[in-house]
Amino acid sequence: MKENYLGVDVSPLNYDELISALYKRLEEQQNSFIVAINPEKIMKAKQDEELRTLLNRADFQIPDGIGVILASKLKGGSINSRVTGIDMMMRICEESVKRNKSVFLFGAKPGIAEEAQAGLEKLYPGIRVAGTLNGYEKDPDVIRQTINDAKPDILFVAMGSPAQEYFIVNNMSELHPHIFQGVGGSFDVLSGRIKRAPQAFQRLGLEWFYRLLKEPKRIKRQLILPKFLISVLKK
Ligand code: UDP
Repeated sequence: MKENYLGVDVSPLNYDELISALYKRLEEQQNSFIVAINPEKIMKAKQDEELRTLLNRADFQIPDGIGVILASKLKGGSINSRVTGIDMMMRICEESVKRNKSVFLFGAKPGIAEEAQAGLEKLYPGIRVAGTLNGYEKDPDVIRQTINDAKPDILFVAMGSPAQEYFIVNNMSELHPHIFQGVGGSFDVLSGRIKRAPQAFQRLGLEWFYRLLKEPKRIKRQLILPKFLISVLKK
């Protein structure tokens, strides 16, 4: 059962459970919308009903961010490990090779999606990338046609949140794919232009700390975590 923090649903499923649910739905031609949830998004959604409705419309709200795990611990929930947006995307790609399904990469600056494609092809030989489109194309007809002409099964949208989620919800019913995931800055990472935190930081749930060291101005965004935990405890 989904857990709910300050009005926002979070799915308790782990990577394996998500992969089997997603591909079962894909075989049944049922659409799936995946959104990554972190304390920053929950705190924004707390003040913004439209955003809250949007996040809750997703079929799978993955617990991306140590804050959501801590909230679940505090409230006696069952979510005990993170499911990050980029790792989820990579697991979906890995499985797509086994099942012969194709992916489309929409988002990031011109040229980056193609570099991300090259990165994925190295990681997952045999992966079928049906097409790419940069995230600065804004004409909805051009976007829809480019994606549909490529006939992908899976669409990753990397335009930042919540723009990518609004795009998915507003266009999903007219698009060819059945799996839709908003993946933020993941194409920049897969292209090799931005480095992820070293494995040790990732394992300890300290990716946020590494990013803080790299970009000290993120402190403002990260101060949301204690506020979030206090709000959860008060509820
Ligand atoms: N981006 C885009 N179109 C836009 C604005 C941003 O494709 O109109 C891309 C940008 O190039 C970057 C990604 O969206 O690759 C946003 O990454 P960020 O890490 O800020 O996303 P977050 O996961 O923090 O929401």
